Amino acid sequence: MSEFDLIKRYFTHATPGAELGVGDDAALLRVAPGMTLAVSSDMLVSGTHFLPDADPYLLGHKTLAVNLSDMAAMGATPRWATLALSLPQADEGWLQKFSAGFFALAERHGVELVGGDTTRGPLNLCVTIMGEVPQRAALRRSGAQAGEDIWVSGTLGDAALALAHLQGRVALPAADFASCMPALHQPQPRVVLGVALRGIASSAIDVSDGLLADLGHILESSAVGAELSLAALPVSAAVRAQLVQPEGRRCVLAGGDDYELCFTAPATHRDELQQLSHKLGLPLARIGTIVSGNRCTVHSEDGSIINIRESGYDHFT
Ligand code: ADP
Ligand code: MG
Repeated sequence: MSEFDLIKRYFTHATPGAELGVGDDAALLRVAPGMTLAVSSDMLVSGTHFLPDADPYLLGHKTLAVNLSDMAAMGATPRWATLALSLPQADEGWLQKFSAGFFALAERHGVELVGGDTTRGPLNLCVTIMGEVPQRAALRRSGAQAGEDIWVSGTLGDAALALAHLQGRVALPAADFASCMPALHQPQPRVVLGVALRGIASSAIDVSDGLLADLGHILESSAVGAELSLAALPVSAAVRAQLVQPEGRRCVLAGGDDYELCFTAPATHRDELQQLSHKLGLPLARIGTIVSGNRCTVHSEDGSIINIRESGYDHFT
C-alpha cells in the first residue's frame, strides 16, 4: 500500500468545516469573526507514553484525547486537527483500529482531521489541535487571585493507580483494577466543561502531570499560593481504598494522566458551578483556596500540614 493510499483509506474523512482539508499541500481554515485561534500539539511516543503492543483503537482515542484536553483547559471549542504519524510498517489491521478510535472521538467533539504527515520510523503519534475561543475569553493559567476557590473535575488518581498496578507497585483487587483502567486507556477530555467555564473560571489547566505539578503552573503564572484540603480531593472508591498507602497518595497528588480540569473561580460563582456540575453530570469538587505568597500547602485529615514546595512533593513526577 502506498503512502497516498494509506492516507486516503484511513485518514480522509469529510471536512465540511474547512475550506480545504486533506489532499493538498496545506489545509485552509477560516476562524469565525470575533474568534481567536487556539493551537496546541501533543506527541505520544512508543515506549515513553505507551507500550508498543498497546491496543490501537484505544491509542487512537488517547492520541486525540490528550490534545482535546488542552483545548478544554483553554476554554476553546476544538475544530480541526492534523496528525503526524511515524510508523514502523503499514499494518492495515493496526491502522484500521487506530483510525477508528481516533475518528470515534473526533466525531463526538465535531473535530475534523484536515492534514498531517506519514512517514516510516519508530511508532510516534503527534496531533496538532486547533480550536476557537471568543476574543479575550480564553482560560489562561495566569488569572488566579488570592481568595478564590480552587476546583477540580471528576476524580483524581485512577489512571496513575491502574499504571501502578500494571507496573507492580501496588496490587489492586481485580474489581478495583477494572474500574481504574478506563481512566488510563480512554480518558474523557472535559471539552464541554472547558467551554462552559468561559466567564466563570479565572484560570484553568488540565491535569496531565499530576495535580500538584499542574496546579503549580497556575500558581507560578498567577504569582499566588494555595491551600488544599486532602480530604476534599475527589477520589473513586478504588483510589480511596489505597489512600493509607504512600503510593495511593502519590497517585492522587502527583500521579498524572488524569485529564481533568483544575481551575480557579471567585466564591460568588459557587452556586453556578454546582448547577453546571449537575447539568453536565460531572462532579466538580472545591479542593482549596488561592492565597497570597507562593506556598502550596496541603492540610491532611489528621491536622498535619504538608508544605509542598519545601517537601519537594512537586518534583514527584
Ligand atoms: P507533502 O508532500 O506536501 O507533505 P504528503 O504527501 O505528506 O504531502 O501528504 C498529502 C496530503 O495528505 C496532505 O494534505 C497532508 O496534509 C495529508 N496527510 C498526510 N498524512 C496524513 C495523516 N496521517 N492524516 C491526515 N492527513 C494526512
Ligand atoms: Mg508530508
